[in-house]
Amino acid sequence: MECDYIALAMRSSPHSFRNLFLPICSTPIYPVQLLKKPSSRSRSLIYSFRLKYASFSAVGAVETNPISNSPYKYGKNSPSKLHEDFRKNPRKDLRASRHNLLPSDDKIELNMTSGVLNLDSKERLRRYSTMLRDCASKVSLKEARTLHGNVLKCGIEPDSHLWVSLINAYAKCGSVNDARQVFDAMPERDVVSWTAVTAGIVGQGYGNDGVCLYCEMRREGIRPNEFALATCLKACSMCLGIEVGKQVHTEAIKVGHFMDLFVGSALVDLYAKCGEIDLANRVFLCMPEQNAVSWNALLNGYAQIGDGKELIKLFCRMTKSEMKFSMFTLSTVLKGCANSGFLGEGQVVHSMAIKIGGELDEFLSCSLVDLYSKCGLPDDALKVFMRIKDPDVVAWSAMITCLGQQENSEEAVRLFHQMRCAGVRPNQFSLASIVSAATDLGDLHFGGSIHACICKCGFEFDSSVSNALVSMYMKNGCVRDGIKVFEAMKSWDSVSWNALLSGFHNSDTCNQGPKIFYQMLVDGFKPNVYTFISVLRACSSLLDVGFGKQVHAYIVKNSLDGNDDVGTALIDMYAKNRCLEDADLAFNRLIKRDLFTWTVIISGYAQSDQAEKAIKYFCQMQREGVKPNEFTLAGCLSGCSRTVTLENGRQLHSMAIKAGHLDDVFVASALVDLYGKCGCLEDAEAVFEGLRSRDTISWNTMICGYSKHGFGEKALEAYKLMLDEGNVPDEVTFVGVLSACSNMGLFEEGKEHFNSLSKVYGITPTIEHCACMVDILGKAGKFCKVESFIEEMKINQYSLIWETVLGACRLHGNVEFGETAAQKLFELEPRVDSNYVLLSNIFAAKGRWDDVRKIRALMSSQGVKKEPGCSWVEVEGQVHVFVSQDTSHPKIREIYIKLEELGEKLTSVGYKPKLEQVLHNVTETEKLEHLHHHSERLALAFALIGTSALKTIRIFKNLRICGDCHDVMKLISEITNRDIVVRDINHFHHFKSGTCSCRDYW
Ligand SMILES: [Zn+2]
Ligand SMILES: [Zn+2]
Repeated sequence: MECDYIALAMRSSPHSFRNLFLPICSTPIYPVQLLKKPSSRSRSLIYSFRLKYASFSAVGAVETNPISNSPYKYGKNSPSKLHEDFRKNPRKDLRASRHNLLPSDDKIELNMTSGVLNLDSKERLRRYSTMLRDCASKVSLKEARTLHGNVLKCGIEPDSHLWVSLINAYAKCGSVNDARQVFDAMPERDVVSWTAVTAGIVGQGYGNDGVCLYCEMRREGIRPNEFALATCLKACSMCLGIEVGKQVHTEAIKVGHFMDLFVGSALVDLYAKCGEIDLANRVFLCMPEQNAVSWNALLNGYAQIGDGKELIKLFCRMTKSEMKFSMFTLSTVLKGCANSGFLGEGQVVHSMAIKIGGELDEFLSCSLVDLYSKCGLPDDALKVFMRIKDPDVVAWSAMITCLGQQENSEEAVRLFHQMRCAGVRPNQFSLASIVSAATDLGDLHFGGSIHACICKCGFEFDSSVSNALVSMYMKNGCVRDGIKVFEAMKSWDSVSWNALLSGFHNSDTCNQGPKIFYQMLVDGFKPNVYTFISVLRACSSLLDVGFGKQVHAYIVKNSLDGNDDVGTALIDMYAKNRCLEDADLAFNRLIKRDLFTWTVIISGYAQSDQAEKAIKYFCQMQREGVKPNEFTLAGCLSGCSRTVTLENGRQLHSMAIKAGHLDDVFVASALVDLYGKCGCLEDAEAVFEGLRSRDTISWNTMICGYSKHGFGEKALEAYKLMLDEGNVPDEVTFVGVLSACSNMGLFEEGKEHFNSLSKVYGITPTIEHCACMVDILGKAGKFCKVESFIEEMKINQYSLIWETVLGACRLHGNVEFGETAAQKLFELEPRVDSNYVLLSNIFAAKGRWDDVRKIRALMSSQGVKKEPGCSWVEVEGQVHVFVSQDTSHPKIREIYIKLEELGEKLTSVGYKPKLEQVLHNVTETEKLEHLHHHSERLALAFALIGTSALKTIRIFKNLRICGDCHDVMKLISEITNRDIVVRDINHFHHFKSGTCSCRDYW
């Protein structure tokens, strides 16, 4: 049988076709078999329902549509009942028609009764057919039903022509049920009536049903003509039923209709739509002549697969041929250009459209919007879009997507609202795009309303929409909602997994990242670039370099280590984990290093306190022609402010000016912070004053700067100004404000600010705020209030609180409470040396040497060693470090001579050393010697030798400055007429003309 079939096919086909046919269908199946087992791909959900409904549920039709005046509502076997109905109530139909707002019905009724009835039967049949054809072209179902009712009422026996006209009219008017019922009532059905009903159903978009009808026809043994074949092929291309299509192809050859123009162009269309572009092309070439349909079908095929080159070639051939192109052709070519990113060619087509006056064609305009948006020209897309009078959902979606992709999310949202106002129902594409826009905007309130809209429109199970939702929630930190949407999805693809994984990178969630990654692998999904970027981000936050290295190995195994984005994520992971050597290796392996990569490595070094290296890379980046952006600068600056190299900071400042980023609030705030931390408050002020707009963060930097430097008044002034300018203070602001109050001993004002924290601004006081308040109370000597405050706030488990108490006790010589605080601290943090030192300072001040000795014994029994004092000073761009009693500096001899010289001057102005500051059990002379060689004094002496007489000296110290050194600094600032700034572990001390900015409270 198989041989016969092929032989038959070969006999009836031209030679070229044989080559075409053979590879397609090596095991042909008859259409009859096909009906039993339809291809699963061409079977839609609607198929079984539609066909059942269309063919057999006459009763169902009555039930579901009780007011329907279909003449068939009583079933095809009861025309007599219908006649009876008309006799009893002859005006019923007319009245119903009036209700249905069809004024022309009266005229039809008149025509039917007066005109048509008098004609001879043949003429009458012809007249009815003509009227039905008119109904079909007017798409008036009511008229068709009235005419049909009349045919039945008058007892006319329709001929085959009228039957087909009835089917046609119902089908064209969209009532597939009626068409099918008329068809079922037909006494004899030939290929024409079969084709009519099939075409009607296919015309309504039911491709699957069309295919089934065709198969039914073949089962009844009716031989298809060229129209039946073309109709079935159209049905196949609708439901992408290529297998069935290939069967019909062989049938066409068998019955000798392959050379038919309709069949040929339907085949081209089918193969093109199904992506079998080679087959489409071969059929196209076999056709004796090509019509517009086949040209457009083939063009569409190339457009669909995004083969712009072949598409343009074909279009050029078309323009050279006799064939005239239509707006549809141009739209198709535009679609192809859009899919292939052929902007130039697309623009040529645009000008062709203008030339033939098609600029205002809606369909074409939509294609143009698509072209310009896909080619990244949102302005041109918008221009075309604005001219469309009534854009369809495709044009709206294209425009919204385009704006979203151009990171113009606000405009995308605005357009989405407009679309909704215009009454256009969003589709999955516009919804997915608008969710992405909400993601970018970080507006979860809006995102939530879109989520509701998605559910209302019934797209909650669409995978692209759900993926976008997961991504939105995850990227904006709503991990729980993201997981909820993810879990509700019917199936997951790798996009869904990647969307889910993208949210696990902050400190609360990052530990879940690796688990999700494993789950994804277990479920058989292959990780891609995005997966690795996300999981590496999780590793960065997790600070789990071990897992990070495993991921790295996996990346190498998947040969993705050459990918620049993955490489950058790797650098970031290693840098955040402080594995700068690995980061450096990964960095130097990258071939293309963009701004983002540079920023990651520079920030990595800066944040690992390797400012020198950060600056080195910063300069190298600029040498390689990459311009820093505000993030690079801010990252580098914030790193430098920790290691405090003023010279480097100034270098970065000038680079920021050169790159034009000084207006950026992040860069400027980082600079303010840097200058503040370097002790150059004037420079910090200057940068701050120069800011065009100031936000809470920049105000915070300035306020906290003032506070740290002991300029409490200025801090509070700045706070007032900040409020006047309409900025809302946050937690950090209050740390600055409260420490300013404690600096200035403003007990009442401090209390007020502390209360306003929660009452006015709704901020829950943090432990820092409480410590500030304890400090305010303690410095004011109100120790009873300190006790009750600690109790009230339930903060007695925090070492920061007790450290503050201990500091206040030292200030006021409160031994009793000091001991309590110290005892608490010895429990909480037994290894912190400064607590022991402070307590023994308190004892020493009271001359309780026995207790001082006890503390020292306790320290050594606990194995706690006093951290050696260490100071550093920047001279001529070089940082010089000194430890207490240092003898290693190359200029140590000159330093000691300088100190001797200063000591004489000090004695002459009445300086008396505070020997009790020395905890060592040594002689008085040794104690004096010891004090003289505290690290900050060595640094000071060196700076006095090495710097010009005008420069401010800036010294940094790892511990608290001792009381004796504090006195000495004050005096020296007067004697030498130099400004000296000392930053110790807690404060800045600005020494000027014998006073200190801390007012001796520290
Ligand atoms: Zn000292
Ligand atoms: Zn001071």
